[in-house]
Amino acid sequence: MLYCTKCKTVCEAKNTTCPNCKRSKSLREAKDEDMVFFDRLGEVDAYEISVLLEENAIKYELHDIPLSLSESTYDATKSRTDRNLYVEYRNIENARKIINDYYFSTAPEIAESPADEKPEVKNIVSSSAFIILFMVLVGITVLFTDSIANFIRSLFGF
Ligand SMILES: [Zn+2]
Repeated sequence: MLYCTKCKTVCEAKNTTCPNCKRSKSLREAKDEDMVFFDRLGEVDAYEISVLLEENAIKYELHDIPLSLSESTYDATKSRTDRNLYVEYRNIENARKIINDYYFSTAPEIAESPADEKPEVKNIVSSSAFIILFMVLVGITVLFTDSIANFIRSLFGF
């Protein structure tokens, strides 16, 4: 694997330029101690993952992300509290596995809502009541319009 010293990403040895930043002179053979870009994290994730990596004695770095004012103002996915996480090259796979396991195990289970017939019955009742009400209203409107029309006709002597 090759390591880009400019943007701190790794790529396949066949590359002649960095697929990420398109530089060619910054590529060299990846070393175990190279700090490789891992992920961009929000404040909470950055904290949880740093704790997790510390527990597993994996060397990491969190860097602030320089953000322009327009980015932080108009792009809700980007926040000034975001951090870029870098992990030692030798531990990239290990870190990925630990983080995946952690997030998989803490993912909230999808709770099935208890079967309850009552709201459904209520819905049917209220929707048929609504239909009846609607028809009554239409009937009233038609009758009313009719009598207004008759009134106007009588005014003009049709
Ligand atoms: Zn690069």
